Amino acid sequence: MPFLINLKNEFKKEKFIERDYEIPFEDLDLPSEYRALEDVKVHLYIIKEKDGYALSMDFKSGVDLECGRCLEHFDMDLSGTSNIFLSKKKLKGGELHGADLDVRYLEDEEHFNLNEVVREEIIIRTPMKPLCDENCKGICPICGSNKNENPCSCEAEERRKNSPFAKLSKLLENK
Ligand SMILES: [Zn+2]
Ligand SMILES: [Zn+2]
Repeated sequence: MPFLINLKNEFKKEKFIERDYEIPFEDLDLPSEYRALEDVKVHLYIIKEKDGYALSMDFKSGVDLECGRCLEHFDMDLSGTSNIFLSKKKLKGGELHGADLDVRYLEDEEHFNLNEVVREEIIIRTPMKPLCDENCKGICPICGSNKNENPCSCEAEERRKNSPFAKLSKLLENK
């Protein structure tokens, strides 16, 4: 669901605007693997410039994600600050405003969709393969148990069976 701000109107009298928004998680239309922990809180600061608007956004958001190794759900904090330049001119590659600034084309300044920017930020900040812990041990491919909770010896067992010594001792046994 879009959350539209009419920037043209807002800046008729003001040089900058500073506001707080609370965006319901469902309104962001995030992919289904995202589960909300709370609404997203955004502190937004916008300055009008010649060719567009400089936007600074502090946002607070937590999501519930599935670990890429053990498949358990865990909470991840995606809060942070994003600086974005909304350019009224179509962008040509190369001529940008410095490496740290994210520049986007603002198609319609009377219908700026805040939710779209917040949605993209959340996606950008989500790791490709989220992990509940860097040392997560994942799931045992043999017995299927979560190795963080139920360490098993399947893999060690397997390795022992396939070791050259095991083969040798088998040969000796059969003699
Ligand atoms: Zn995990
Ligand atoms: Zn196992």
